Amino acid sequence: MSAYVRLRGKRGALNNEHGFTLVELLTVVFIIGILLLIATLIYTSSVSASRRNTCKSNLRIIDGAISVYEARLESPPADIDALTTAGFLRKAPVDPHTGKTDYSIVGGSAYSDGGHQDYP
Ligand SMILES: [Zn+2]
Repeated sequence: MSAYVRLRGKRGALNNEHGFTLVELLTVVFIIGILLLIATLIYTSSVSASRRNTCKSNLRIIDGAISVYEARLESPPADIDALTTAGFLRKAPVDPHTGKTDYSIVGGSAYSDGGHQDYP
């Protein structure tokens, strides 16, 4: 029996060593990396969902203001500025995707001009 084998304990570690083996360290780094990847994916998807919901909410608010505008003035507004100047919107909502007031009115409905998918 060699000296290496005699030094091993019940769990296979050397009795006179108190550190970690390379395999143990790599395993911990791998697990931490997987956890960070999962956390990053959850964070980015929640931010994306939040922006999408805010954009939908903005479109609903603009559509409501358009309905009131049409009911009172009996013609559709030309653009968002017509809604704000007439007092049906306090201010033009900001598209969270672009950071600008990228909404337009086409055929009595609001649409986002941000170059992303429009929502029903
Ligand atoms: Zn948007």
